[in-house]
Amino acid sequence: MTGLPPVRYTIAPIRPASHLFEVTCTVSDPAPGGQVFRLPAWIPGSYMIREFARNIVTLRAECEGRAVVVDKLDKHTWRAARVAPGRALTLVYDVYAWDLSVRAAHLDPTHGFFNGTSMFLAVEGHAERRCLVEILPPPPTTSRRWKVATTLPRAVGEIGAAMPMGFGCYRTDSYDELVDHPVEMGTFTHEVFEAAGVPHEIALTGRHDCDTRRLCADLARICAWQIELFGLPAPVDRYLFLTMVVGDGYGGLEHRASTALLASRNDLPYPGMNGVPDGYKTFLGLCSHEYFHTWNVKRIRPAAFTPYDLQSENYTRLLWAFEGFTSYYDDLALVRSGVIPIEDYLGLLGKTVSNVLRGGGRLKQSVAESSFDAWIKYYRQDENAPNAIVSYYAKGALIALALDLQLRAASAGSVSLDDVMRLLWQRHGRTGVGVEEDGLFALVEEVGERGGKGAGRRLARWLAKAVHGTEDLPLARLLKPFGVACEVEGASKGPTLGAKLAPNSGEAKLASVYDDGPAQAAGLSAGDVLVAMDGLKVTGSSLEAQLARRKAGERVEIHAFRRDELMSFDVELAAAPADTAKLTLAAKPPAAALALRKGWLGG
Ligand SMILES: [Zn+2]
Repeated sequence: MTGLPPVRYTIAPIRPASHLFEVTCTVSDPAPGGQVFRLPAWIPGSYMIREFARNIVTLRAECEGRAVVVDKLDKHTWRAARVAPGRALTLVYDVYAWDLSVRAAHLDPTHGFFNGTSMFLAVEGHAERRCLVEILPPPPTTSRRWKVATTLPRAVGEIGAAMPMGFGCYRTDSYDELVDHPVEMGTFTHEVFEAAGVPHEIALTGRHDCDTRRLCADLARICAWQIELFGLPAPVDRYLFLTMVVGDGYGGLEHRASTALLASRNDLPYPGMNGVPDGYKTFLGLCSHEYFHTWNVKRIRPAAFTPYDLQSENYTRLLWAFEGFTSYYDDLALVRSGVIPIEDYLGLLGKTVSNVLRGGGRLKQSVAESSFDAWIKYYRQDENAPNAIVSYYAKGALIALALDLQLRAASAGSVSLDDVMRLLWQRHGRTGVGVEEDGLFALVEEVGERGGKGAGRRLARWLAKAVHGTEDLPLARLLKPFGVACEVEGASKGPTLGAKLAPNSGEAKLASVYDDGPAQAAGLSAGDVLVAMDGLKVTGSSLEAQLARRKAGERVEIHAFRRDELMSFDVELAAAPADTAKLTLAAKPPAAALALRKGWLGG
């Protein structure tokens, strides 16, 4: 729709110490009967209603300097009264930005960060209009050295166009694009590297001692591997990792040409570091995960997200494919690109298997159901979550693994899940056609048939059952032909209470009580604070050692506070359940297994 006037926005980090951005939105041809504006209720990639409008502190409208009446229609919708034809209407509003996550906005005298979904009111009827955004610098008392990191395209050719990494004008072709490029401003570290010929950038905000050369080298391998997996050309002509470094944090959100990340300082590589410590593996896995979304969910999308409805829940049963398959490939990319050794990868896979086995919810909820109810369950977990919910991330990743192994085994390694991803990319990613709710099964059948007649049909049926059912996956049996052993044991030799303690709380406070475990049978509940076992004091750090000296079947008296009342519970200890998986390379596997494993994990 070229030719129609653009919607113009300005963003000013006007009061950093008060965490306030001032935003303006100007429409040059408002609707004749009064113009309606809306702020999104959620941000794509994070499936929960967040009601960002609650952070709009003040809002007014004006037309050529004169105030215009604004009505609020619902929690995130406003309507400005009609103005004379040919006159522009401007909304001016303050956004409170003090959410240090990747999902909203944050502003203080050290930096500013925002997602468009927290800042830009959508102009009803103008979703396909071009947008021009002027990003203004902070007040001079803050810092004159602030720069801007974003993949928003610069408004080259417009008056006030931003210079690279500068304040000034940026532009997009639509509202959908406008809200899919987060923006960081401040005095961050900025590095550039190339992967498969595409420039990639990383911006690190917050104090850090990161060995950026090491980080860029590792990310370059991971990104290049992913680009090769889907095939050239890459879906982007530049990509940006926006990273907020904090003492203790973890989070990531995918966007079409960038990702916003929250990372723990000690997870980043430091100069002289040897090997790949667990924390760094976690951070690289997070980067790999969000990068994989550049294809899987940002371009290959569920039909239910085509387009997104940002006002209310968008239901799909497919998050096991978009988050689960992405979770499978995030760590797989680390080993396939040579960044971590195979043994480390098997260790990561073992953790995922254990995570799934530790939740009894996996026997009650399918990953399709978990996807559909993400808005009220996975994203709003309470103390009963382990008993009621299965993670479409973790179990979705294991379904991807099981599918990959079966595709490879049935075809002597000639087809794999990689072929399914490439077919998804061709049919849906490149075309923009959304994936229907049952769309994956036909694609798996098509790819599977290439590897052996009948194999595709069998695997498509297996996948439907795995996705809609609650049975455990036969991973040990599927891994064996690849020369990988999978053993499942109890987490400890000693008995268990069947409960999870709240982390970092010193006292032995129960975070969750597992269904049908000893604690639940004795009447203990989440929230109870254990103070003694058989008359001896119990703390968060001593409980495990005290249990290790006991045997399954023994009875112990536990004293605990519930609310302020001391209560006594008679607990019969049980053996620790077999929920800890260990994956190892089998000794002297046959040549066929070695060949299959090489195709799967490289090396
Ligand atoms: Zn994800």
